[in-house]
Amino acid sequence: MNTKPKKENIHFYECPECHLHYKEKEWMSKCEAWCNEHHSCNLEITAHAIENEITKKRLSS
Ligand SMILES: [Zn+2]
Repeated sequence: MNTKPKKENIHFYECPECHLHYKEKEWMSKCEAWCNEHHSCNLEITAHAIENEITKKRLSS
């Protein structure tokens, strides 16, 4: 019998409005709420998006 180890998919939450991805559902909800209301980005929220975390790492290295 072949017992493959269960591959855990890392799941990101996508804001349906601006399509940024978050590791935490909480931030995605905040982003979605903000996007719905203001139709713009809140830098404090989008700073937590995967896309911006990658940018930050690129800049610091
Ligand atoms: Zn958003």
